Amino acid sequence: MVLLNRLLDILYPPKCVFCGKILEPAVGFVCKVCKEKLPYTRGAEIKRRGEFFEFCLAPLYYRDAVRDSILDFKFGNRPGRAEGYAALISECAGENLDVDIDLITWAPISKKRFRKRGYDQSRLIAFSVAKALGKPAVKTLDKHTDIPAQSSISDPARRRANVMDVYAAVEPENFTGKRVLLIDDIITTGATMSECSRTLLMAGAERVIGACIARAD
Ligand SMILES: [Zn+2]
Repeated sequence: MVLLNRLLDILYPPKCVFCGKILEPAVGFVCKVCKEKLPYTRGAEIKRRGEFFEFCLAPLYYRDAVRDSILDFKFGNRPGRAEGYAALISECAGENLDVDIDLITWAPISKKRFRKRGYDQSRLIAFSVAKALGKPAVKTLDKHTDIPAQSSISDPARRRANVMDVYAAVEPENFTGKRVLLIDDIITTGATMSECSRTLLMAGAERVIGACIARAD
């Protein structure tokens, strides 16, 4: 296994998830330069408040290299970056999550979007965060309607209306009475995270806390 990993590292050297620079062995997922320069959230800004979720952890601001990296992750066929983002989220959760969590879940994309993209980016992050935190990753939601991308709408009320009732709980017995950590890639107005949280609470979740890679300013 060690040999196989070494061979894979030579064939596909790990690259910084933010700038794409080839990393020195055993450096992790982010190069030294990015590690120092990234727009980290601090203090009260780490926990974004919202409706139906208690707060959403976000280690970074959604701007510059972070924005480019996440857009490429979603639209440039780069599922491999999920592990690097998950490491940042897990570290942030380790330092800032003062609530016990029972399971990790994610805000899903629609089946149509999945067929086009080939992977559900937040699901990949959720599985990696679950592994790091030693908790199960559980599918709890389906996005049953394909809606215009939230990023194509700027008005907060319209964004809210756009996601209304588009999620459905999946096997609620798996999360009834549980404390759920809900993963999404980014949080902007909070409409998606609120609607997913509302659906989970309605279906019996005890509390919902969010976590994502980055928050809009
Ligand atoms: Zn870098």
